[in-house]
Amino acid sequence: MNIFFDQSARGTSQRLDFAIVGGGLCGRLVAWQLAGAGHRVALYERGDAAGTQSAAWVAAAMLAPLAEAASAELLITELGAASLERWPRLIAELPEPVFFQRNGTLVVWHAGDRAEAPLFERRLRANAPAALFDNGFVKLAGAQVAATEPALGTRFAQGWLLPHEGQLDNRQVLSALAAGLSARGVETHWHTAIDAMPDARIVIDCRGLGAKPAWPALRGIRGEVARVHAPGIGLTRPVRLLHPRYPLYIAPKENDLYVIGATEVEGEDMSPVTVRSALELLSAAFAVHPGFGEARILELNAHCRPTLPDHRPAIVWDGARTLRVNGLYRHGFMIAPEVADSAAQLAEALLARAVSGADSFDDFRLRTRWPEMLHCEHAVPAL
Ligand SMILES: Cc1cc2nc3c(=O)[nH]c(=O)nc-3n(C[C@H](O)[C@H](O)[C@H](O)COP(=O)(O)OP(=O)(O)OC[C@H]3O[C@@H](n4cnc5c(N)ncnc54)[C@H](O)[C@@H]3O)c2cc1C
Repeated sequence: MNIFFDQSARGTSQRLDFAIVGGGLCGRLVAWQLAGAGHRVALYERGDAAGTQSAAWVAAAMLAPLAEAASAELLITELGAASLERWPRLIAELPEPVFFQRNGTLVVWHAGDRAEAPLFERRLRANAPAALFDNGFVKLAGAQVAATEPALGTRFAQGWLLPHEGQLDNRQVLSALAAGLSARGVETHWHTAIDAMPDARIVIDCRGLGAKPAWPALRGIRGEVARVHAPGIGLTRPVRLLHPRYPLYIAPKENDLYVIGATEVEGEDMSPVTVRSALELLSAAFAVHPGFGEARILELNAHCRPTLPDHRPAIVWDGARTLRVNGLYRHGFMIAPEVADSAAQLAEALLARAVSGADSFDDFRLRTRWPEMLHCEHAVPAL
């Protein structure tokens, strides 16, 4: 269903406080928070309540701020570390259980690829906050690798344990948030694609890549993953394989389900996974543990990560009644609690008219924890 809105409800007492457009990861979290604060909220999502149209549905949902520092800047790793602390509290409030684990990430490499290891370590040292690196990076050698992750046996002579990293079940989060929105009285409009913004005091556009018509600088970065069922392997935490061509992670979820990912290809191609990518992902997993040879392929999925030119998330106020929250790129789950919280705070300040012009916006921005994320549209020509 496509919706164009009748503006005649403007000014009536029935008017919504917030209309949130796009009910993937970010939209659901923002709606959850604003409804929890007692506001009248509606959420419009073109797909279903399960979230199958979103990038979040395909994601591996690794919460790995230190490992991601191999390619992400300080802002992202700090957002990730702060968000990791928030997830357990957030999940505890949801009405359905969500698998969440904070058992660390194991990084390994094959002997022939050992040149990758110092490069990766240097990037982590350079990009991560010193405290995150200093007490979060444990070198393992020989039997220590097998002692840490017995399923890998003696296959890897060296490895690193990043003991504080986490992961969760992406689909359970989406489902639990949908249930939580109902419980908090949010008007949820599933199967409702929005072409013109709905009427509400404040509109929050969380359409991910679907916001591209309003935000031309957004681009998609395609990612492909495999979901396999592999009983008997028994990995206890996500494993990252350093490799010059096929850097890979294997994220064990509940019930012997593994998410193996992910490719990173420039472009907004949402077509099915290519044979090449499937071969690369599955061969790399097989090389980590031959037991994956007997795994059953449940799904091969592709989606695009919504990305801005600087690879940072952004919360942009248009100077009137619309906020746009986007650019979560490959770190959506890792940083969403902090991004959603910042967006909700700004949205509430707009509703209360505590922010109503450029000066008050600047004051507000400077008082927030993550001022780098907040922009007033006219002040940010690059976006
Ligand atoms: C292969 C892959 C692996 C990933 N792995 C990880 C990971 O391990 N860790 C991590 O932190 N992140 C990961 N991510 C990134 C994460 O999934 C995204 O950053 C996150 O989903 C972005 O959230 P979002 O809400 O902005 O966008 P989305 O989750 O895509 O949600 C946007 C929603 O808007 C809806 N929408 C669009 N247009 C309209 C419209 N016109 N009207 C109504 N609704 C609309 C869409 O249907 C969608 O549900 C991965 C992504 C991919 C693709």
